[in-house]
This record gives sequence, structure tokens and C-alpha cells, in this order.
Amino acid sequence: MARAGWAPPRLDEFILTERLGTGTYATVYKAYRKKNTREVVAVKCVSKRSLNRVSVENLLTEIEILKTIRHPHIVELKDFQWDSDHIYLIMEFCAGGDLSHFIRMRRILPEKVARIFLQQLACALKFLHDHNISHLDLKPQNILLSAPENPQLKLADFGFAQYMSPWDEKHVLRGSPLYMAPEMVCCQQYDARVDLWSVGVILYEALFGRPPFASRSFAELEEKIRSDRVIELPSRPRLSPECRDLLQRLLERDPLKRISFEQFFAHPFVDMEHMPSPESLGKATSLVVEAVKKDQEGDVSAALSLYCKALEYFVPALHYESDARRKEAIRAKVGQYISRAEELKALVMCDSKSLLRQANPAREILKEMAKDKPRLCAALEMASAAIAKEEEGKDDGDTLELYQQSLGELLLILAEPAGRRRELLHAEIQALMARAEYLKDQIKMREAQSMGKEALAESVRSSCTLQ
Ligand code: ADP
Ligand code: MG
Repeated sequence: MARAGWAPPRLDEFILTERLGTGTYATVYKAYRKKNTREVVAVKCVSKRSLNRVSVENLLTEIEILKTIRHPHIVELKDFQWDSDHIYLIMEFCAGGDLSHFIRMRRILPEKVARIFLQQLACALKFLHDHNISHLDLKPQNILLSAPENPQLKLADFGFAQYMSPWDEKHVLRGSPLYMAPEMVCCQQYDARVDLWSVGVILYEALFGRPPFASRSFAELEEKIRSDRVIELPSRPRLSPECRDLLQRLLERDPLKRISFEQFFAHPFVDMEHMPSPESLGKATSLVVEAVKKDQEGDVSAALSLYCKALEYFVPALHYESDARRKEAIRAKVGQYISRAEELKALVMCDSKSLLRQANPAREILKEMAKDKPRLCAALEMASAAIAKEEEGKDDGDTLELYQQSLGELLLILAEPAGRRRELLHAEIQALMARAEYLKDQIKMREAQSMGKEALAESVRSSCTLQ
């Protein structure tokens, strides 16, 4: 295998220059095509000796397939060559370095940035999954960035690992067990689901600055891998519940219990539906057309909800657009829709506030009737506290959680003997559910609007960059 410090190998059509990196199996050089010195590529030199699973011929067939793959978040394999010792893969050059370097330079990434990267990674993995290709060696070193400015993530080194056993001839593990699923290290038996574990480790490292099994010694590392303890997430930095949920479900040791690919692609934190794509603008526009229609018909709340849904697509559309003039046009429209949504919101708030303010007389009776049931009493108190908070203007996630907790309790107690108390309890639960639902909509709408405003401000400052 070529090693650091060795002179770059000679290839007929290319001039190889600096060494870009050395991975588990190969050394990668920056290179120029002799015929067109402006074409920069990366040449990956793989030693044939590291291939121990199947014959080189099979690998060459596989590379032929990989060559046909084109995806914005997968490093393009342009061509390949071989000689007696090496296989040379001619690849698209990624000037932004790898994700491991990107994280190290920043120590940790904000959740928002990590999420954009995760969406791009999910997009690449979905494409590979649809083509029945597993990566099997996912780690930050194998995730490259297209450019130092406004970097796009590019998955590298895939479709290859299946030809390379993670164990060498002496049964010593190659590569880094920090990113390998426990079943890969412990049982030497695994399938595509190991990729989801590795996604969890990468996301964990991006957010907390170190992988979950970071250790000072090999013994400590081995203990952590073999243990059956649940992976605990540090309490800081504070992350959204969706993000925590996803991490927990990816970092599930038992591959049978781990989140599935389908669940992963649909998870609210991944939310592939709202990632910046060529379709974002079309989806936003058709929702706005509907919103305007409802607005003209005077259906204020339907119009408001449609404007907000449209904003959820306009934000990624703004991120996606690279042409300055078109970006400006989208920005102007978004500003206009945000203003209209705000006017509508004021109208809707006025209506529903007066509706909610009508106290529920049955609530007091119910409380009286619940005096001999401390658990019911406590749950009703909690509901009253939520209502009081909301009426004070605290219409945030904490209040919503209080509603949801009290509802959870009340629903458990619902198994009451039939009678007046059960009837009242039913009515109360329904009223509380309506309030919680209303609050949830409010929070969602506010988020969509502030996301829109933020994106506007950000894109005004300059074009959207990830840094
Ligand atoms: P291995 O199969 O040996 O792990 P990789 O394909 O992961 O080899 O490449 C090793 C390192 O070389 C990467 O971690 C990255 O830093 C660098 N590298 C690889 N491909 C490219 C590329 N296309 N553009 C820029 N750098 C690259
Ligand atoms: Mg690699």
C-alpha cells in the first residue's frame, strides 16, 4: 500500500500532486488531467493486496456500476485504471476537505448546521438504499465537502467496503471501531443496518464534539463497545427533542430494535420533505396559490395555515437558489407572505382568544367532584396551571408540555365508572385537547414565520453559507 511520504505513483494521463489523505485502504492524491490542466481530480490509489474478499475482477465490475451513479451528494467516480499492484480511482475533487476536519476546526456544530448536513447525508443514503448499495464504512473521514465556502456534503468511499473485510488476515480490525456498529465488532455478522448506527455516531460527534465511544485506552473502548448500556446523550448543548429522539434511535445497539431505513428517512428531524431541493420552490408556490384563494374567500384560518405551510418550503427554496436575481425575487415574495400571514394571525388570535376565554363552568364542578381522587385532582390542577400560563401569554413549548402531561394523566384515569363525573371528565379532556391542539398550531406557525424571517435576514446578509 502507498504510504505517506512516498512519491506519488505515475499515471499516463494525469499529473499527480499533493497527497490529500490516507484512509483505511488507500492514499488519495490531487491530480490534473494532462490534456486539460484545468480539470482537477482526486486519484485514489488502492493496493490490490488489501482486497481479500473476492477477486479483483468482481471489484472491477462493481466499480463499473459505481461509475454510472450520479448524485449531488455522492462523490462522482469519473474513471478507473489499474496496473499490477494498484487500482486507481479517478474521482471528483472535493476542495472542502472531510467532515472530520470540519468538525475539529469548529469543535461542535450548531444543531441547525448538523441538520443540513444530515439531510444531505440522508439524501445520499436514500439513493444508495434504493440502488441496494450499503456503505459499511460511514465515518466523518469518508464524508467530504465540495468547497470551503457554502459546502455541500459528498459521500465517498462507498460500495467498496463489502469487498474489504473489516478484519485483516490476522483477524485484526481495520479502520476505526469508534464508528462501527457493535454487532460488526462483536459478532462479525452484520448487514446494511450498520450504516444507520454510524450515522448516529457521526451526528453525535458533530453535536457533542466527540464520538459516543471516545476512550482513553483500547481496554476502555472495548468495554464500551461490548457493554449493553444504553448510549447516554450529554445534557449540553441543549438539543431539540426531535434531534435527541433520532440520536437515541440510531444509537440502538440491537440492530433489530434500531430505527429502520424507512423510519429514518421519514423522521421529523431528517424531514427530507423540507430539505432544499429543486422541487422546494414549486411546492411553495402551489401552496401559496391555495392560500391566496382561501384568503380571497375570507377563510382566514385556512389561509394562514396554508401561508405557513408554504413558508416551510420557501425557506429551503431560498437556500437552494444560487442565482442572485432569482434569489432576490423569492426573497421579495417571502417578505410579502410573511406580512400577510402576520395580519391573518392577528385576526385569528382575536377570534380564538375570545372563544377560549369563555371559562368552562363544568371544570369547577369537576374539581369539586374529584376531591376524593388525589390523582385526578393533581391532573386537573396541572391542566388549570397550563390554562393560566397560556392566558398570561406564555404560549410556548413549556405550556404545551404541561397540557400534554395533564392530558396523559387524565386519559389514564378515564376508566371511571359511568356517571356524571365521567361525562364531565370526557368533556374536560376534549376541551383540553382542543386547547393543546390550538397551542401546537400557534407554535408551529410561529416557527414557520420566524424561520422565514431568519432565512430572509440571513440571505440578505450574504448568500446562505453553512459557516
Ligand atoms: P480509504 O478507502 O482508504 O478510506 P478514502 O476514499 O476515504 O480512502 O480517502 C482517504 C482520505 O483522502 C479522505 O478521508 C479524505 O480526507 C481524502 N480524500 C478522499 N477522496 C477525496 C476527494 N475526492 N477529494 C478530496 N479529498 C479526498
Ligand atoms: Mg476512507
